[in-house]
Amino acid sequence: MKASFAKVPTPLELELHQEGRRLTPQRKKVLDLFQRIGGGKHLSAEDIHGKLIQSKSRVSLATVYRTLRLLVKMGFLHELELSEGGHRFELLSQDHPDHHHLVCVNCGRTEEFESDQVVLAGKEAADKQGFKLLESTLNVRGLCPDCI
Ligand SMILES: [Zn+2]
Ligand SMILES: [Zn+2]
Repeated sequence: MKASFAKVPTPLELELHQEGRRLTPQRKKVLDLFQRIGGGKHLSAEDIHGKLIQSKSRVSLATVYRTLRLLVKMGFLHELELSEGGHRFELLSQDHPDHHHLVCVNCGRTEEFESDQVVLAGKEAADKQGFKLLESTLNVRGLCPDCI
């Protein structure tokens, strides 16, 4: 049985209500890239930068970082912290709801898994403290078989 959540506004709905945070062409380009690639892919800023350069976009890595951070804040992307300084980004979408990550801190290999127990534990903790639950995810860090 899946845990049920109160309806939260979709990122797009939220975005439409936030003045001054419109999707500039640059932001839209990055978001389009994620949408083309689809959910369940975990990309680094360098990956995104490389793909933008391939599609003839002249953009600096620093700008890509800024854009990614902003898209995370706006609720379009989810940021995963791998290890010291390593970050991956993925599309937040309704077709790919709450899932958890098993991350190799050495090579960055990222596997997804689902666990209703984790989702429920988050829901219980939130209920107990009177929090409105937005997300309940677990990041597990370790070493993959190739890196042990
Ligand atoms: Zn994921
Ligand atoms: Zn590894």
